[in-house]
Amino acid sequence: VKGVRTGADISAEAAGVKVPPIKTKSRRSGTYLYAGDYVLPAEVKHLRRAAAASAIADARLLHRFNPWFGREEVRLDIDGDFPQMVISGTGWNSFALLSHWIARLTQTGTHTYHGVIFYPEPKLDEWFYFEVTAIVGNDPSSGDQILDLVFMNADMVTYARRYTFQTQFFRKIELEFDYVAGVVPITSFHTSAHPNRPSTLVHEDLGIETILERAGFDTTLSGNQSEVPLAGALSDAAWEDKELHDAMQVHWSSYAERPQWALWTLFAGLHSQNYLGVMFDWQDLGGIPNPYHRQGCAIFESGLSAAVPWNVQPGDVPSWIARQRVFTAVHEIGHCLNLAHPHEGHPHSTFWIEQDGSADNEFTLTFMNHPINYLHGHNVFFQNFEFRFSDNELLFLRHAPGRFVEPGNSAWMTNHAFQRSAEAVGSPDFELRLSTASATGRFAYLVPPVIEAALINRSTEARNVPASQFADQAGLVVMIGSEDGPMRQWLPYLNHCGMGESRTLLPGEALYDSLVVGAGRTGWNMTRPGRYGVQAVLRIADRLVFSNPLTITVEAPASRAEERLAVDFFTPEVGRVLAVNGSRIAGGVNDVLARALELKQNPVSKLAAMALALPLALDFKQLEVGPTETPDGRPRKRFTTYKADPAALRALLAPAAQEGAEGLIETMGHARYLREVPALARLFGEEAPPRSAAAKNSRRTKAEPLAAILPVGGSYADMLASKSAGLTW
Ligand SMILES: [Zn+2]
Repeated sequence: VKGVRTGADISAEAAGVKVPPIKTKSRRSGTYLYAGDYVLPAEVKHLRRAAAASAIADARLLHRFNPWFGREEVRLDIDGDFPQMVISGTGWNSFALLSHWIARLTQTGTHTYHGVIFYPEPKLDEWFYFEVTAIVGNDPSSGDQILDLVFMNADMVTYARRYTFQTQFFRKIELEFDYVAGVVPITSFHTSAHPNRPSTLVHEDLGIETILERAGFDTTLSGNQSEVPLAGALSDAAWEDKELHDAMQVHWSSYAERPQWALWTLFAGLHSQNYLGVMFDWQDLGGIPNPYHRQGCAIFESGLSAAVPWNVQPGDVPSWIARQRVFTAVHEIGHCLNLAHPHEGHPHSTFWIEQDGSADNEFTLTFMNHPINYLHGHNVFFQNFEFRFSDNELLFLRHAPGRFVEPGNSAWMTNHAFQRSAEAVGSPDFELRLSTASATGRFAYLVPPVIEAALINRSTEARNVPASQFADQAGLVVMIGSEDGPMRQWLPYLNHCGMGESRTLLPGEALYDSLVVGAGRTGWNMTRPGRYGVQAVLRIADRLVFSNPLTITVEAPASRAEERLAVDFFTPEVGRVLAVNGSRIAGGVNDVLARALELKQNPVSKLAAMALALPLALDFKQLEVGPTETPDGRPRKRFTTYKADPAALRALLAPAAQEGAEGLIETMGHARYLREVPALARLFGEEAPPRSAAAKNSRRTKAEPLAAILPVGGSYADMLASKSAGLTW
């Protein structure tokens, strides 16, 4: 396809828009398709990575290729328009997505680039430590532009592949510009027409298609541009979002109820809300679910004409409007491609474009900002704006998994994963460390995996940290990825108390907590045997702190009994009771836990023992619905008092701690265990404390009573004691 003009070129030329020359000869950026594997000679395979790339470069022409079935494309982004120095790859088999990865590159030689894969999907732990070396060149026999990639892991070359150049673009998009009767669609403007502009701006006719092409889209215009008649023929009829959606279904020649790399833009007169433009195709249209949303937007002529700021010179009004029309159209198209406003880089969102994690987002010069609301005013905006998307937006548009960007696919501003997991470009002052209590990171079937999280002050000064956010789902975002599915966010069942509390950490000090990531408000996670990746991010003082990526392995069922129990065990009710350490009124749940207690070979029996035992540690009153009814037929409510039952509690816990308390503590999580210590300690002294006293004493209690209850080794007790001092409550 090199040298072939696209439909967009032809239509743009027909519309009088100059297309900048495509420098295919010198340009290396673009999409490459898989051509084959190298059979690596043994001596290359065992080279350390420093030597490997040059060895591959020397040896690469000597080896055969192994074709495989499937399709794999790589997007190299090192030159051309707004290069991001990024490479990304996507592999498919015949049916489904296989993998997606992204790495930032640095140039290491005339033809070589090197980077670490920071976005892996879905084989997390295999990808996380991969490095990639890219070697660009031309096939000596065919002259074709080629790209060789060498992937490395744990200092070793693991495999090398060749790709051939396909297109200078990264994605495809088809646009259809329809217009309401009486409205002239304006899809380009001249960059020098308005005097307020950067002095460096190239003077040209700039069209929507060209802007999208420079963002990396092979842009075609639908040949079916058509007029949409105004119902009732009222020239000032204002559009509602729902009406726009209905019009899209009727008038868009490519309309389909499925994701597709196409979108519809309507040039209309007036919106009922007086918008300049709108991405009307929301997830929900007046209460009606719209699963394939983000496919359509509209631009409003009257809205724009009415929005000219007072300080635009009268002579500049027409060029101001023309520029603003194109700007608004690209802005709304950006929304269709799942871009948000820069100021919506929400602190706690899992939004892929987290921007730069600072409060400066309102200053970002991008189509996705609002010039009229720009902090320094629209004049300053256009003085500096170069008619481009920001780097983070380009990273997303060009290199994010396709479903995030494709109109009609991933939900608006959701289902995004981390932008820069392993890069950890966030705050250097803190470390957020995830680990598992056991060094292997393996969990038995049925056991909800628990993660030990530590927030460590790595700076040289005392720092205030939002202790409550660390323990609270609003502040800590935890993502779980499986090998065969998209990432999902863990939402815990409940917050700890002590909201809004901030703590001071001296240099080297840490906060600790245990996260029962195996179960949460959205149900159970990680129920199927296999490997999972977990990563967290916390926002502290407007900076993001990324955790290390952690790999967890869930083992296969060890017996038929475990498999049989799973049906009743992986329910929201059981998940909740395990996560909150038991409940006295759990009814059927306690029956399931009693069955888990019988699986003595599986640590889930220890967890069940603890969940059944802990409610016995305190007296408590519970409002329950009684068996009788009030005279008007409603169920009678009553308080039932449960007395603490030390003997029963001991009977449950003794077998669980038989081979040492460590196993029990690790299965439930260090911090969770430490929170229960005070209640247990008192009980083992044979006095059941009244509930209020126990609650009071449960704050900041040291771990000393621990040894008396469940003996653990000296260093283990020390570790727990130091964690106890850094617990968030
Ligand atoms: Zn907007």
